[in-house]
Amino acid sequence: MRTFEKSSKLDNVCYDIRGPVMDEADRMIAAGERIVKLNIGNPAPFGFRAPDAVIDTMSNNLTLTEGYSDSKGLFSAREAIVKYCKLKNIPNVTVDDVYTGNGASELITMSMQGLLNNGDEVLVPAPDYPLWTASVTLAGGTAVHYICDEQSEWNPDIEDIRSKITDKTKGIVVINPNNPTGALYPREILEQIVDLAREHELILFADEIYDRLVMDGHEHIALASLAPDLLTVSFNGLSKSHLIAGYRCGWMCLAGDKSKAKGYVEGLKLLSSMRLCSNVPAQSLIPAALDNLEDTKKLLVPGGRVYEQRNYVVDAIADIPGLSVVKPKAAFYCFPKIDIKKFNITDDEQFALDFLKEKHILFTHGKGFHWDEPDHFRIVYLPCVDDLKIAMEAMKDFMATYKQA
Ligand code: PLP
Repeated sequence: MRTFEKSSKLDNVCYDIRGPVMDEADRMIAAGERIVKLNIGNPAPFGFRAPDAVIDTMSNNLTLTEGYSDSKGLFSAREAIVKYCKLKNIPNVTVDDVYTGNGASELITMSMQGLLNNGDEVLVPAPDYPLWTASVTLAGGTAVHYICDEQSEWNPDIEDIRSKITDKTKGIVVINPNNPTGALYPREILEQIVDLAREHELILFADEIYDRLVMDGHEHIALASLAPDLLTVSFNGLSKSHLIAGYRCGWMCLAGDKSKAKGYVEGLKLLSSMRLCSNVPAQSLIPAALDNLEDTKKLLVPGGRVYEQRNYVVDAIADIPGLSVVKPKAAFYCFPKIDIKKFNITDDEQFALDFLKEKHILFTHGKGFHWDEPDHFRIVYLPCVDDLKIAMEAMKDFMATYKQA
């Protein structure tokens, strides 16, 4: 009998966010059990609401956005993105260099599909946002992971990056602010990455979707702003800063020197045309959204939800023997460390599963982010403090006796 298997192109694509832990969570939910979800960076289910002005803009535009747009996006949307790039000192971006997408996700995949041949290498952080590794692999490339160093506030380890550059390396992915660590990289680190890219003629891929979610008075520095003489492909979008992940609204900008990338740009144009265009109603709210950066800021200062929830979680982790965490400066994630000897942990996925079964609380184990040791997990601190309290008290209780078999 003829059977239909998944494409062999997917054989090495690792997107470990699902697996047995999620299967068990799905089973529990289907059985009517309540679980607290600390596993997904999707603000809306946790009571976050997009600014009214932004939603109103889209509603008012619905009848005007029934058709396809230009494959790169509405002119007005791309013009607003160019203005935003200027605000961030991202050099040499015109409307022609901007591609809107159904979330940054679509464009991350497109950026790799348009560039890589079999065997090409791309440097990707570990831990990573796993779509990057999956996209490199699906495009026929090899994701070579460089270490972000917990001892140094999770900053990229420059020597490790340097040691992993080969003549097959085409680019370096920098996720800043970072998912899953919540790190925000300082200028010196970014400059050293740019220097390496300059020395080895690499493309910079800057995933900056959390650039408007920075706390404690820190400033986000756009990678492209430090590299006017290189090609930087910058990714951004409204899923997180404007709390509208479901609208699928993202963009990618080609910045800096594009003179050596004419072929790559041709490839991107082709791929962009093949998907016709991204969601047009969502594109239509980009100008209003980028004119409204104030509502996001309110979440990030004392009294704001993201700020208070971060502080609660960080303090609660510090209070659990055997756990520690680097305080995140941005986004809404942290990546606590587990003393694996104390708990005899050899399998972090099993740890997540055991915790879910016993306490009905869901988080993602470190391997889901291409972190090789079984000694980390990610907490998304989007739930309100009352729910976080339930989760963290349960965790304290669980860790008091847990030993992996
Ligand atoms: N990049 C990073 C680092 C992310 O964390 C996410 C989503 O969680 C994305 C990109 C994708 O965002 P979207 O496709 O919603 O724009």
